[in-house]
Amino acid sequence: MPELPEVESLRRSLVPHVVGQTIQSVEVHKPKLVSSKGTSRRPSSSKKKKFERGLTQETIKQIDRKAKNLIIHFESGKVLLIHLKMTGQLVYQEDGERLALGGHPIEVSEHELPNKHSHIIFELERGTLFYNDVRMFGYLLLYDSWDDLAAEQHFDNLGVDPLAEEFTLEHFRNGLKDRKAKLKTVLMNQEVVTGLGNIYADEACFAAGVRPDRACNSLSDEELAKLHAEIQRIIQTAVEQGGSSVANYIMADGSRGTYAREHKVYGRGGKECLVCGNQLAKTTMNNRTTVLCLHCQQ
Ligand SMILES: [Zn+2]
Repeated sequence: MPELPEVESLRRSLVPHVVGQTIQSVEVHKPKLVSSKGTSRRPSSSKKKKFERGLTQETIKQIDRKAKNLIIHFESGKVLLIHLKMTGQLVYQEDGERLALGGHPIEVSEHELPNKHSHIIFELERGTLFYNDVRMFGYLLLYDSWDDLAAEQHFDNLGVDPLAEEFTLEHFRNGLKDRKAKLKTVLMNQEVVTGLGNIYADEACFAAGVRPDRACNSLSDEELAKLHAEIQRIIQTAVEQGGSSVANYIMADGSRGTYAREHKVYGRGGKECLVCGNQLAKTTMNNRTTVLCLHCQQ
């Protein structure tokens, strides 16, 4: 699943190419993707028609991101919410040249476009935007206004974005100091800080020298400050590098994200710690593989 850096990287790649363009036509081949969200949703042919008609002749005003949601604002006030979930991917091309792309998996993007996973196709003035999705857990939901989108509570209980000014040390400390839950659990549940998945939670804990299985309320002020700073540094660096190629994410220019080269613990269970040389431990937390150094992390 794309994590925050991959989605932010995709957003930044799309903005210069598609903002200002007017959608000429939209084809939805899998109505499920535009009907609702969740695994048990039913495809709705009326929602498919509403999506196709509702976006035709709409001009893209700006593209924002909230957690891992991409939000496309149109000049008319309409809003399109896009969540790539496990295997969604957006590719924008002009005259066969891929100018912006991101998501998962890279194999699909290497095929001709459109391909059998190109379920939604937006014809813009200068090029074509493809939404490809192998497993189809993603969703694209169109709203007449921001208020209509907000009413559906997609963002309830979402914490602060690690790239936003609101992600202050005070916010972070207040979010963690009274919780007995394990640190990694809270970092990943999105309630205090959004966008940290398995990769970046492990990397942040390692960089800060704290064990991911510590109770949140056991962290000292010093440890909280270090962790807060490392989360900002790691996410910022990952966005700049286009995310982690380890899970096949791709960048705007078609190259693979290079952040995986920076991974100190993720995917390195059993290998030597790059700091102390001891063997990295591998455990399971919340059904996810967790890698840590029992020597470097307290
Ligand atoms: Zn170590």
